[in-house]
Amino acid sequence: MAATSHASIGTRDGVSTLAGRWPLLGQRRALVVYLCAIVALDLVAIMLFAASTVFQWRDLLTFTALMGCGAVCIEATRRLGVPAGVSRDLLSAWWLPVALLLPPVYALFAPIVLQILLQVRVRATVLYRRVFSAAAIGLAGCTASVVFHRFVEDPWVLSRGSGSPIIFAVLAAVLFSLLNIALIAFAAHTADPDTTWREVLWDRESVLLDIVELCLGVTVSIACGLNLALLVLALPPVVLLQRSLLHAQLQAAARTDAKTGLLNAAAWQREADTEIVRARRTGDTLALLIIDIDHFKRVNDAHGHLVGDQVLVGVAATLRSQLRDYDLVGRFGGEEFVVLLPGADVHEARQVAERLRTHIGHMTIPADDTPIRITISTGVALMSVHGDDLIDLLAAADLALYRAKELGRDRVCIPAVQPPPRTLPKTPPPDPS
Ligand code: GH3
Ligand code: MG
Ligand code: MG
Repeated sequence: MAATSHASIGTRDGVSTLAGRWPLLGQRRALVVYLCAIVALDLVAIMLFAASTVFQWRDLLTFTALMGCGAVCIEATRRLGVPAGVSRDLLSAWWLPVALLLPPVYALFAPIVLQILLQVRVRATVLYRRVFSAAAIGLAGCTASVVFHRFVEDPWVLSRGSGSPIIFAVLAAVLFSLLNIALIAFAAHTADPDTTWREVLWDRESVLLDIVELCLGVTVSIACGLNLALLVLALPPVVLLQRSLLHAQLQAAARTDAKTGLLNAAAWQREADTEIVRARRTGDTLALLIIDIDHFKRVNDAHGHLVGDQVLVGVAATLRSQLRDYDLVGRFGGEEFVVLLPGADVHEARQVAERLRTHIGHMTIPADDTPIRITISTGVALMSVHGDDLIDLLAAADLALYRAKELGRDRVCIPAVQPPPRTLPKTPPPDPS
């Protein structure tokens, strides 16, 4: 998302300085229109529902208690930090009960309170994203709330434990998640139309988290209805879950290169080392590629660094889409990428390297006037042929890459292997007689 916006900032003179101050203006027009429409819809909903709601002390107290729990959750995980980009939390555990138990207007207010806290206490991110998140969650929560209250007249009966209110609560929670996912996925797809709908909508980890959030939200709603003081018992496990979730996300972020989403150099080397040790033990074949974009400096010089970054993102996406799940792809630094192909022999390694070269050669990155095309040079090294450990294989592939550059770029090179010295038949010792 950020990368797309940067590209457009760089290409529109005059807007670029404004966009620096107002990052929303640097986004695609369709995205700006969509974000503004969602926020406007949220504001209209707040006005309409606020006008038709009779505010009651019990509701206000429950809202304050749930927001207090959300605030404690945020404070308790604040010191861990939050990974950049899209991150997940378990705050639905608090705003889902708001949507189920209280009149719909509270579901519109709850994300505003928590997003302000996140912005002030955790990470001051681009403001329009916070505003959009608050609006999207608010609208999803408000819709779930309206639907739930239509079927269950007195939401506090949830705590009696009878079947149908709980089933309706679960269905309302599913509706809340689906709407929230749809609103955010539409924004992600508008920001970057190259991403497939499957990529923005479906992620197994994310679905698992949604289910956990749903269970927590419904359970907290039931506890809340029994006695507001029970929130004190619900808080510690939710905080603990939230902390372990953040921990896992931070660990994943520490392994990846923020610009391309590939493994970073340190993580790639660690994982490549493990694969190489395994291949040495089992005697399997294995190949290593170093890929370098040709004349990348010229792209930066001609179109700017932000467009250069788009090229890096495009190359990374092509590499990922052309390789198997168990091939290891990393960004080694600058405009250099590394690939480890477990099980590949010389023919397969050459075939894969040529396929990558062709696909990247056909890739186009939109720029100001003409789309940018690039080529790559690749050095290949093979386990047991050019080396037995990571250092030797990297050195051999680097040498081959150097040769590919020397020969004119846009090609794949494999280092020549010295044939082993021929063992001459031993001459028999001279006969002493
Ligand atoms: P060659 O074909 O010999 O590889 O030429 P080259 O221009 O690709 O190689 P050179 O090493 O001269 O330049 C690499 C350029 O990559 C210089 C550097 O500014 C740029 N670069 C490194 N990291 C990044 C990055 O993260 N983003 C952008 N946009 N450029 C980067
Ligand atoms: Mg280079
Ligand atoms: Mg280069």
